[in-house]
Amino acid sequence: MRIDLHAHSNVSDGTQPPAELLAAAAQARLDVLALTDHDSTDGWAEALDAARQQGVGLLPGMEISCKTSQGVSVHLLCYLHDPFNADLLEEITKAKDARLTRAECMVERLAEDYPLNWDDVSAHVAPGATIGRPHIADALVAAGIVADRNEAFASILTSHSRYFVSHYAVDPVLAVELVRAAGGVPVFAHPVASERGRVAPPEVFHDMVDAGLLGLEVEHRDNPPEGRAWLRRLAQETGLFMTGSSDYHGAGKPNLLGENLTSREVLERILAVGTGTPAYLP
Ligand code: AMP
Ligand code: FE
Ligand code: FE
Ligand code: ZN
Repeated sequence: MRIDLHAHSNVSDGTQPPAELLAAAAQARLDVLALTDHDSTDGWAEALDAARQQGVGLLPGMEISCKTSQGVSVHLLCYLHDPFNADLLEEITKAKDARLTRAECMVERLAEDYPLNWDDVSAHVAPGATIGRPHIADALVAAGIVADRNEAFASILTSHSRYFVSHYAVDPVLAVELVRAAGGVPVFAHPVASERGRVAPPEVFHDMVDAGLLGLEVEHRDNPPEGRAWLRRLAQETGLFMTGSSDYHGAGKPNLLGENLTSREVLERILAVGTGTPAYLP
């Protein structure tokens, strides 16, 4: 079975609407795709309709923006949680709102040096979508300032850049607890992706495991080989399962659907624990 458990639509920073994403999943001969937009489940309904049409399995999911007390950014994937759970909704709403204020602030700073305004950025954001730096990157591309999102992230938009602003995000240990309380299955996304910035220290992993973390996204292009070996040992020690996924963002990143896959056994573990919403399996 070809199972890819991490993909974005234009409900966050992917470039395709959910229905197109599911069509692309069918093209990539996937049996099961998880839709994991940043801090939003708004794409679930459209994705489910499209999954039925395409005959592709769908695991409704989300990628929660988190930040440790030391300021390290952590992404937590979750699957099959109850999308109406009030405590979890409150946190993702706070993150979404903070992302908007933060994007406005970054655009203000950028506007001092580049011919760029808020309208240029919002032109790249689908209505109601979770906004992020990739949308600012799209505006920089459209203005001819950089060639693609990757070049924007390598220069103007890095976390070391003078234009960078951080935003509120829930503590990852609390996020794990909230996901479990909402009947969801929490999985640490690209946990050792050092290229993106600082990586969480081992204590954070252990605290997340104690809080109910269930899986580690080991096979992800941003995890370097030594990091993956460490993750495999940690999974062995703690009994966590391991996933592999693409983190597909449409045309926004080179990541291709199905470039990493998750085993059927792991999918079954997720289905057994996730009780907040049903999966669709044709
Ligand atoms: P933000 O959450 O707004 O801080 O932006 C981070 C998001 O940008 C992540 O979700 C990534 O998917 C995306 N991203 C990070 N690096 C790159 C890159 N080099 N090219 C394209 N997208 C990227
Ligand atoms: Fe993203
Ligand atoms: Fe992520
Ligand atoms: Zn992602």
